[in-house]
Parts: sequence; C-alpha cells; structure tokens
Amino acid sequence: MKSAQIRRTFLEFFQSKGHEIVASSSLVPHDDPTLLFTNAGMNQFKDVFLGFDKRPYTRATTSQKCVRAGGKHNDLENVGYTARHHTFFEMLGNFSFGDYFKRDAIQYAWELLTEKFGLPTDKLWVTVYAEDDEAYDIWQKEVGVPAERIIRIGDNKGARYASDNFWMMGDTGPCGPCTEIFYDHGPEIPGGPPGSPEEDGDRYIEIWNNVFMQFNRDDKGVMHPLPKPSVDTGMGLERVAAVLQGVHANYEIDLFVNLIAAAARETSDANMDSPSLKVIADHIRACAFLVADGIIPGNEGRGYVLRRIIRRAIRHGYKLGARAAFFHKLVPDLAREMGEAYPQLVTDQARIMEVLRQEESRFFETIEHGMAILEDELAAMIEQGVNQFDGETAFKLHDTYGFPLDLTADVCRERGVTVDADAFDAAMARQKAQARAAGKFKMAAGLEYTGIKTQFHGYDTLSHEGRVTALYRDG
Ligand code: ATP
Ligand code: MG
Ligand code: MG
Ligand code: MG
Repeated sequence: MKSAQIRRTFLEFFQSKGHEIVASSSLVPHDDPTLLFTNAGMNQFKDVFLGFDKRPYTRATTSQKCVRAGGKHNDLENVGYTARHHTFFEMLGNFSFGDYFKRDAIQYAWELLTEKFGLPTDKLWVTVYAEDDEAYDIWQKEVGVPAERIIRIGDNKGARYASDNFWMMGDTGPCGPCTEIFYDHGPEIPGGPPGSPEEDGDRYIEIWNNVFMQFNRDDKGVMHPLPKPSVDTGMGLERVAAVLQGVHANYEIDLFVNLIAAAARETSDANMDSPSLKVIADHIRACAFLVADGIIPGNEGRGYVLRRIIRRAIRHGYKLGARAAFFHKLVPDLAREMGEAYPQLVTDQARIMEVLRQEESRFFETIEHGMAILEDELAAMIEQGVNQFDGETAFKLHDTYGFPLDLTADVCRERGVTVDADAFDAAMARQKAQARAAGKFKMAAGLEYTGIKTQFHGYDTLSHEGRVTALYRDG
C-alpha cells in the first residue's frame, strides 16, 4: 500500500466513524509561544482540549505535518542513527473532544490496524500507563490481546531511549496517560520489547500512541483536570508505511526511495547505504516544508533551527563529495513525491529553491576552511587519545565559519568524540558580554541600535538549543 493510500484510508476510516476530516495546520504554531514547531496532530486543537475554544464537531481526524528538531520532542540527533526517526514527518490522528474515551479509542485503533490494514495480531504489542487498569482491561478482556504482550510502563523521565506512557505536548499544556501500539519487525533485528533493557534497538517499533487527555499542566508542574476527558492519537505515516510495505526502516518506503536516489545523484555518491543520504533525504523534507510555511534561515529562534538543519544537510553532502550548492536541487524531486498531498510544494517551488540556494551558497564559502580546522583538531586529538572536543575551537568554528554546535558535534560523533558544550557556552557568553559592552558604547555615542525579536520564547538561549547534551529524547 502506497503512502498516499495509507493516508487516505486512515482519514476515511475515521470519517466513517463520525470524524470531521480537518486539514493539517502550519508547521509554525498559531499564536503559541511555548512551541517551536508543530510537533503533533493535537497542537491545532490545544485550546479545544483546554476548553477555551469550541468547534462545530466533537470528533476530528487529520494528517498533520510535524517537525521535531527542537523543544521537548527533539529527534534531530536520532536522524541517520535509528530506523524510525525523522525531523519532518506526518502524523495521522483521530481526536475526541469530550466525546468518546478509552474504550472506543482502543477499539477503533485495533479495527483499523487488524481489519483495514490487515496486520497480524501476533506482531502487535501494546503498552499502557502503569496505573491504568481500565486501559489494561480493555486490551486484555475486550480486545483479546494476550497478557504477555501488554506491558505496563510509568513515567520514565530522562531516560534516552525508554518508553514513557504519560504524554505531554511540552512542559506545559494538555497531557495525560497513554497507551501505545508497537510492531515487532522480527528476530533478525536487534532490540527488545518496550520497557525491557534492550528496547533501544529497532526491532519493536512504536507505531501509534493513543493519549487520554485528562490534565492541563501549568508552569509549576501542577496538573489541573480538563473540563472533559478527551482523546488525542498519533500514528507516524512513515512508520506504518514501513510495516505495510514490508520493510524495516522508514527510509525504505516509497516516499523516500526516490529522494535518496536524488540525494545520491546530486552528491555523486555511489554508496546507496550511506547514512548521509538518509540524513539529506530527511532534511530536504523538513527544510522545504519549513520554508513553505514561511520560515527563512536566520540567526535566532525558528530561523536558526532551520539554518542548522540546512547546514547539517550540506555537511553530509560535503562528506559525500559535493563542493557547491546541491541541496536545493532536491526540491523538484520532493514536489514530485509529495506535491499532490501538499500543493504548496509545487506552487512555491521556485521560492523554496531560491531560499535554500542562497543559504547553501553562503555556507559553501566557509565550510571547506571550517572542515579543515575540524579535521586537523580531530586528528590531533585522536593521536593524543583525547575524546572531548575543545569548546573554544567549537565556538571559533561557530563564530567564524558558521558551524552550529550540533553540526560540529555531529562530525565528532562519527569519530566517537563528544564536544565540551560548557566551554562552548562560556565562550559564547563571553562574546555576548563583549558585544553588549560595545553596544552600550555605540548608544552612548548616539548610534541607533535595533534588535530583531522573534515570537518564540520557549528557551532562554539558543546556544542551549544547540547543545548536544541537552538533546534527550522524550518517550
Ligand atoms: P519514539 O518513542 O519512537 O521516539 P514518540 O513516543 O516520541 O516516538 P509520540 O510523541 O508518541 O512519539 O508521537 C506519536 C507517533 O508519531 C509515534 O507513535 C510515531 O509513530 C510517530 N513519530 C514520533 N516521532 C517521530 C519521528 N521523529 N519520526 C517519525 N515518526 C515519528
Ligand atoms: Mg510515543
Ligand atoms: Mg520520540
Ligand atoms: Mg515513544
């Protein structure tokens, strides 16, 4: 089943269950300064869950564009390393606003997966929130999933690869216990069932999360019950496509095959298994969709996250041999692949290409120098048996050659080296203090100073956003 057909089947299934098909919202959250980019289908319904907004329907279904490259749900560091994570992906979802609750949500999910999509039931595993006996009983007694494939899981804060069955959109906002459905890709693939110490692997892949929205978490961490218990679900289109197309990794599905070939074409790389091709294919989707939704690369906030993703893609292209702007040339391939579902990719193609081309051309002016410094430093370190990259040098690469910290860290990671992010932050802080002092001097001298403010207030400093040490996976 092709991705386009999976998307359609999902929406029509929930339409037949009384859900309104609602269009995807923009990747730029509407009027929500707590959120970097849209990271889940429920974002556009946040105020409906909270009881501040009313819609003419109580059931909805969407295929939502999502980007997880910062904020609470950040998968940037996983791309190229796991079979299942993208920066940009589509989340299929069904929502109940005070209408149905646990029983129907679980029954609908099971019916769609096993009857419409025809998945074998013995390959499906489920997790429930540790204390949620109600959900456990529905799975076991009503749906008939055997107890050995129902796993209770509690909060698991801070663990990098562990499941967490309490879903939160961010540090504040709607949240609640959830039940998740996993698919077992088979014993040839390393990894253990959810909740086991081996779950890091990619054998059991989470395909669908059903969240029982019951609370609003405030900025002090206090949970306030929502006016009406609701349902919010999310299933990754690319992950379910992998299952239905009989492949293991998301990168092997129809949507990606041509993009990866295009990345190889533009970087003249012969090795089709190179993780760099996957990274480039992933990043062109995120970047093109972000530009389509109005973000342009810049030094602050959302624009800086976009810049970081573009530069990361360029670095991978450089690694494969590209020495001039190539990334933007993948936009027509993407438009061919996804333009039918997202016509903006076609109508806006020329602008998207131009924005990317300009950003790339600028970075290609400095990347060669920066990479040479980085490589020299790494070679010296490896010779001396040092495995932490100097933060001052990382800052110089950032400041002089436009290497975001996460890009430097990405190169270092390939050699098993980490970056001293504290020293990087210290160098950054020192430079900011100097700039402030210089600014005061200018103002005192009567020169005008204008600063550009972004509307995103989620983090104190952006350097923090770039810190590898801070990039932990949520559940
Ligand atoms: P994982 O544990 O694999 O990182 P998650 O628990 O963070 O996933 P949820 O927040 O529960 O994911 O999102 C709902 C669904 O969206 C997931 O079950 C998965 O199918 C899909 N999904 C989440 N993150 C990604 C991603 N980075 N790329 C592709 N699909 C994703
Ligand atoms: Mg999940
Ligand atoms: Mg995750
Ligand atoms: Mg998870």
